[in-house]
Amino acid sequence: MRADLHTHTTASDGSLAPAELLARATAAGIELLAVTDHDGIDGCLALAGARGGPQIIAGIELSTTWQNAGVHIVGLNIDLHDSTLRTGIDLQRTARQVRAERIAGKLTKLGFRDTLEGALRVAGNGNVGRPHFARFLAESGQLPDEKTAFKRHLGRGKPCDIRSGWAALPDVITWIHAAGGTAVLAHPLKYKLTHRKLEALVNDFRAAGGDAVEVVSGLQDAMVTERIARLTNRHGLLASGGSDFHQPGQHWSELGCATALPAICRPVWQSWDSIRPAR
Ligand code: MN
Ligand code: MN
Ligand code: MN
Repeated sequence: MRADLHTHTTASDGSLAPAELLARATAAGIELLAVTDHDGIDGCLALAGARGGPQIIAGIELSTTWQNAGVHIVGLNIDLHDSTLRTGIDLQRTARQVRAERIAGKLTKLGFRDTLEGALRVAGNGNVGRPHFARFLAESGQLPDEKTAFKRHLGRGKPCDIRSGWAALPDVITWIHAAGGTAVLAHPLKYKLTHRKLEALVNDFRAAGGDAVEVVSGLQDAMVTERIARLTNRHGLLASGGSDFHQPGQHWSELGCATALPAICRPVWQSWDSIRPAR
């Protein structure tokens, strides 16, 4: 199965509109495509009823905090109209807004100008995050490029890397389950946890009802895939895979680059009696 179960659109920090993402996925020969924007479902809603191309899985990538680390949980095959999930999304939106104000406050103290207005303008849809601040700082000429913005101010462990405010791990799993979906621990190696801490995270995730681990995230080394596959199986969890596509031109997260799951894994779609069409 050529499945890509982790992608972004302009509804969060992706550069392609939902219809453009669908066209690109079709051209890439994807059969199963999950749209998983950060803390929002507008991209999925925009594709409701779309015909042709891959089967579309309604999804979301929820931000959460676990032991002071920012962790992402992908929800797959969700009912977009579930009220518990909708309430959760509203909470995340408020948290994102408060966080944006705090990031802007820190950037102002560092001497940057108009960052909240700028980032909101770049985001265009209220779903504002660090990439939008970075793009504004580059576009307004206050920093040479987005990479510098992350390296100096917005990246992991930097002064403007603010994580507080997100819902707790068990809460986001509850929302996903309320919406009939499957909870997936996204890109487990991206958190740069020690071996022992990653083990603890997967343990807590499973204990909270988590269902699957993203065994393949973008282009990755076969040894890495093998390691996460074993970790996943050891905890009795299902396996998912996705490119984490945000924009064309990044070959390490191009649509369809992460479709092959190891044979020892149980793919997440095998647990779905039916695929809930976006509506
Ligand atoms: Mn993103
Ligand atoms: Mn993520
Ligand atoms: Mn993502």
